[in-house]
Amino acid sequence: MPPHYTFAPRIKLPPAPFRKTISQKQSLMQKQPEQSRMDKIVSLAKRRGFIFQSSEIYGGLNGFWDYGPLGVALKRNLKECWWHDMLTGHDELATLPGAPTPYEMTGLDCTIIMHPQVWKCSGHFDLFHDWLVDCRESKRRYRYDHLKGRWASHREKRVFVVTEQSGDEALVETAAKAQKFFGLRANKSSEIEWAKAMVPLAGNAPFAEALGPDAASPGTLTEPREFNLMFETRIGALAGNDDDRAFLRPETAQGIFMNFKNVVDTSRVRVPFGIGQIGKSFRNEITPRNFTFRSREFEQMEIEFFCKPNDSAAWYRFWRDRRWNWYLNLGLTPGRLQLREHDADELSHYSVGTADIEYAFPFLPDGEFGELEGIAHRGDFDLRSHMEGKLVRRDGELVVETDDAGKPRHRGSGKDLSYFDDISRERFVPHVIEPSAGADRAVLAFLCDAYHEDEVPDEDGKPRSRTVLKLHPRLAPLKVAILPLVKKDGMPEVAIDLYRKLKPQMATMYDEKGSIGRRYARQDEAGTPWCITVDGQTLADTTVTLRDRDSLTQVRVPLDECVDLLRSRLA
Ligand code: ATP
Repeated sequence: MPPHYTFAPRIKLPPAPFRKTISQKQSLMQKQPEQSRMDKIVSLAKRRGFIFQSSEIYGGLNGFWDYGPLGVALKRNLKECWWHDMLTGHDELATLPGAPTPYEMTGLDCTIIMHPQVWKCSGHFDLFHDWLVDCRESKRRYRYDHLKGRWASHREKRVFVVTEQSGDEALVETAAKAQKFFGLRANKSSEIEWAKAMVPLAGNAPFAEALGPDAASPGTLTEPREFNLMFETRIGALAGNDDDRAFLRPETAQGIFMNFKNVVDTSRVRVPFGIGQIGKSFRNEITPRNFTFRSREFEQMEIEFFCKPNDSAAWYRFWRDRRWNWYLNLGLTPGRLQLREHDADELSHYSVGTADIEYAFPFLPDGEFGELEGIAHRGDFDLRSHMEGKLVRRDGELVVETDDAGKPRHRGSGKDLSYFDDISRERFVPHVIEPSAGADRAVLAFLCDAYHEDEVPDEDGKPRSRTVLKLHPRLAPLKVAILPLVKKDGMPEVAIDLYRKLKPQMATMYDEKGSIGRRYARQDEAGTPWCITVDGQTLADTTVTLRDRDSLTQVRVPLDECVDLLRSRLA
């Protein structure tokens, strides 16, 4: 049995499914609509050009996703909101509610491939791994910490039935597998005796008695093996020896630590300040799944916030709340969001707190949440690691890990990454608060949250079902569509003129094809918050109809006020 999670700087702590009680009482009827809701969201995402599977014409590549015309606009808007709200739009002179003092924010864009020593000192080289289990029979591979099961017995036989599913799916799957294993007809399945709890495979069953999720007989699962999640590559034409080995970054954060000194030396920032970065990260996930939720290539939006050690607890609370409010302000449903403070036993020893912002994704069982963002108090761990070498915990202290010869296991840069405060005349290694968000997971959460089905009256006043994405206007790929009611009587000319006035200001679309009802429906599915219709009355009194996607209200607005009105609504 491998050790569970040893000290690891940002290695996953006990996996989410095991932190939550798997309710055995959930009604299957409740779960099914959510699953079909997820299927509908995935299908809309493809049909309307939000998200496609990568390399689809070759059968796709598991864990890789492309963003289509609407998707790229949505994702860019999301990243732009983050960049604006956290960095460029931040008022550096004000003391924000909950903040100990004013603070500065700046940005960075660093490389995906960095010096291999970065990952050795950060701990990723030794510790950024998952445990995988293979099935000798089905040749399938599983994440050890995702496998769970329950004991089933019938007459003299017993078996531990393993599943990757959660919640009700887990109960249904294990019941069906046990029935087949014991060779029972459906009407005899009540003869099976079950141990009540669904428990992790780890530590609860010998492998010889475990019936794998895709196996027909027990004992086919291999002992867990370590699997480093970093993608490896080689640098240079003559690549061949170990020195040429490099890694695609599994997080953007380390690039910020690499440049901490550069930023302090070249810009006028003073502690407390934060550096933000948005960029690609790569993790060779063992089981990518749940649409874009767990991908192998994804984007992160990360901040490293540097502060005085004594103020760090207050800054941690500030950032936790600031990031929580960001999701709410952009419209995520409060009831589907959860702020989960890690328990003391989940915390790294140097940390005074870590919290996850989690969302109730529709593919999860009722009552379970998936991580959107982690906010971690990281103490001085990162800067010290890159100065001194890879750190380990010994007797409650962080010390440089040494090899058998007493030399550092992974040597640090030796550069001084401390900070001198020229007002207080103090020198210290700043403590770090790290809000680390996933752009793709956030896009997925906003898409899921925005998806609604309702009924609207058609042109004849009859109810018509519609699918609508109620995206926040800042996130919506298109802000407004300009629609001439008919393609004649001078209406297109007026509409095109308005389109040309709006287009430089915001994402605007001109559409004259199809009935007005169909055109509204197309915009509703794309999440466009407003439609402007040019009709017969426009030609008479120069007013247009402004239709609101969510309330469905239609109001007459003077043509020459449209630009200012929509600009003020977007502000
Ligand atoms: P998980 O436990 O779900 O694997 P994590 O705790 O390893 O996530 P972090 O290392 O804290 O994630 O990364 C910060 C953020 O990056 C996550 O909150 C998530 O939004 C995003 N992220 C991490 N791994 C992936 C992935 N494989 N696909 C998409 N987004 C990811």
